[in-house]
Amino acid sequence: MMTVISQHLNGQPAHIVGAGIEGLSLARWFTRQGAVVTVHLARTPADIQADPALARQAAEIERLGARLRAGADYLRGLDEATVIGHVQSAYTYKYPMNVAALDAARARGIPIVTNLSLFFALCPCPIIGITGTNGKTTTTEMTDAVLRAGGQPVHTGGNIGASPLDEVDSLQPGDLVLLELSNYQLQFVQASPHIGAITNIAPDHLVDYGGSFEQYAAAKRRILDYQRADDWAVLNWDDPLLRQWGAQAEAQLFAFNLNHALEPGAYLRRGRLTARYQGQEKAVLRADELQVPGQHNVANALCAIAIGTLQGVEAEAMARALQGYAAGPHRVQTVRERDGVLWVNDSKSTTPASTVAAIQAFAGRRLILLAGGKDKGLPLDDLAQAMQKGVTQVIAFGEWGPTLAEAVQVTGVAVQTAASVAEAVEVAARLARPGDVVLFSPAGTSFDAYPSYAARGEHFIQLVGEL
Ligand code: ADP
Repeated sequence: MMTVISQHLNGQPAHIVGAGIEGLSLARWFTRQGAVVTVHLARTPADIQADPALARQAAEIERLGARLRAGADYLRGLDEATVIGHVQSAYTYKYPMNVAALDAARARGIPIVTNLSLFFALCPCPIIGITGTNGKTTTTEMTDAVLRAGGQPVHTGGNIGASPLDEVDSLQPGDLVLLELSNYQLQFVQASPHIGAITNIAPDHLVDYGGSFEQYAAAKRRILDYQRADDWAVLNWDDPLLRQWGAQAEAQLFAFNLNHALEPGAYLRRGRLTARYQGQEKAVLRADELQVPGQHNVANALCAIAIGTLQGVEAEAMARALQGYAAGPHRVQTVRERDGVLWVNDSKSTTPASTVAAIQAFAGRRLILLAGGKDKGLPLDDLAQAMQKGVTQVIAFGEWGPTLAEAVQVTGVAVQTAASVAEAVEVAARLARPGDVVLFSPAGTSFDAYPSYAARGEHFIQLVGEL
């Protein structure tokens, strides 16, 4: 279908619902095919001018010679398109008008694409894709480092960095693409990568799937659904659901896990991250040589080793890459040690599962946990258990604070509420004693008080710096 699309777009109307990185990249691609491009945005022209980021996007749309249709009646003309592209977020329950219009267009036989579905259809070289609920970015960055250390130039993108569609025309069959893939991106792609890796699956984003964990998981499973027998599924064997998927997978299986020496597989053995493939076992590096803390990062590194092994990267090169890998900001990041108290910023944690991982990374220490923000309505059983085992005191902050505190109270762990991150830091500074760790790992999103997890993390760092 896609080759047909690219051959027949010259002079044809191509319409895009949504802008941003993905939408503009689609607009550029359609423009390169000679299409007459229209971008549809729900925001009013006044809104767009008032928002610097949107105003810049509108200016680029104009530079491309494309038309912008914004505000009331923004979807007008969509049904005249030869092809329609939309950004992932445009087709969700938040925009019922878009969903209705796109469904109607599809019913009339108009081809509908997303940035990633086009990229998958057009990419001339093998693709390695990484998804999962937590650890996508970390594992993608580790894998990028491993492949580069092995002398394999790799084009890395997807959910991180620039849009891969911008590069697609210059890719050669001998190239290699590495993509971090979100459930939203996978949902609209009718293809799977040659190597498809899944770090773990835990409840997340359930509101977008009508509260259904099965539907959320099904979106993630699309990374395997279209694989064939010569492809590879790289799966976390410590995750019961992924074991089940592995048993059903069409592709060959390369499992990674913390305990069992599987063949082929990547695992922890006598403190060493080890790979076994084609009858050979190779120790890559010791777990304590990783700079990033916690068992969850050992699992992430094992996933990168699994992919590196499949790509033929030497153990020494993988070791060098992983020893050199430092955590990205806001991911169990050490902020400062003050009067014997270690302050840690894990603002990127917006799920109970990632907060569990952070708590476990400090097993054996006295831990004061700052959690809260905006509730995502996810199950809290595992988090409650991890708190009972490893947390001395919880400070529940933000909009979610009072309800979260009620849930913590049931577990018997000491808990106190704070209206804001600033107040939570104040309370923690008062309670902390030498030897304690103060862990800022919210488990909820930042949207009650900040535009992003990064802004929230920066504010936490600033507050801790001012103590
Ligand atoms: P993603 O891209 O999937 O959001 P990140 O690598 O950015 O993942 O990490 C997000 C959060 O999850 C951070 O708080 C991080 O410490 C935590 N995390 C990273 N890897 C894992 C893992 N394998 N299991 C659980 N939590 C993880």
